[in-house]
Amino acid sequence: MPLLDVIDDSVTRAAGVSLRMLRLDKVHPLLSGNKWYKLRLNLEAARHQGHTTVLSFGGAYSNHLHALAAAGNLFGFRTIGVVRGELTQPLNPTLAFCREQGMELHAISRTEYRSKTDGAFLAELTARFGDFFLVPEGGANTAGVLGCTDIVRFLQWSSHSRDRHVMLACGTGATLAGMLAGLTVPCQITGFSVLKGGEFLTHRVQEFLHECGAADPGQWQINTDWHFGGYGRVTNELLEFIRQFTRTTGIPLEPVYTGKMMFGLYSLLAQGGIASGSEIIAIHSGGLQGRNDNVVNIPT
Ligand SMILES: *Cc1c(COP(=O)(O)O)cnc(C)c1O
Repeated sequence: MPLLDVIDDSVTRAAGVSLRMLRLDKVHPLLSGNKWYKLRLNLEAARHQGHTTVLSFGGAYSNHLHALAAAGNLFGFRTIGVVRGELTQPLNPTLAFCREQGMELHAISRTEYRSKTDGAFLAELTARFGDFFLVPEGGANTAGVLGCTDIVRFLQWSSHSRDRHVMLACGTGATLAGMLAGLTVPCQITGFSVLKGGEFLTHRVQEFLHECGAADPGQWQINTDWHFGGYGRVTNELLEFIRQFTRTTGIPLEPVYTGKMMFGLYSLLAQGGIASGSEIIAIHSGGLQGRNDNVVNIPT
């Protein structure tokens, strides 16, 4: 499998586990990571319903808007990105990319952003931009969840492994729910919350499963220990871990999602939290373009 990179270093050896990383960051040069999977069926639905314009929401560093802009350009949709906060000039690399791809950017205040899905506000957006197909922030809806069932096809286990683990970073929990909905081979899935207060994710994932009519296969959990102070927050220790990891494996990580997840996984491995003999697949969910933004800049 070209998308699974073997990681064999002092930590995995000491823990006696096999570790591979599923490189969803490499599925396409411009449109990659889990955001593509969350968009795919949304765009199909938009086309099916005769929409030519797709509108969605995100912060100034949104991997989701980045993916939507690229997808719109590739598949011929007009895209509108409603951005929380101001469009400070010059645009940061994420938003500059969105605009280059043809996305129309529309900034709204943080207060407006909170009520962005109210009927009255959506009516205002329609008056301004015309009819559109709405994809929620982060692509976190039923179509988004169902699109993520595809990711499971990339999990290739060796026939002799006993304890199988999947590790991934969670923001809304939609990707985790989709993977649970698509599972064909039993394994234990751990979602690492990148948000402070990620305890809500357990219930949210159950809701997503319910909304798409999928049974809960069990054997999954949310780990809330590695948020590093909250969404988008980083520490020097985290950045140093990422640099070190990239130096030894050649695999780039970003600090908002996959960096936190891998830090958490390596801590578990170092503490003996994962049984020796386990086979682990960590999901690289993409988002590498975010490294160009000064908030999360990682000098190498
Ligand atoms: C959005 C994102 C996630 C989180 O996915 P959810 O489905 O919201 O849990 C993980 N990794 C990356 C790189 C992302 O951009």
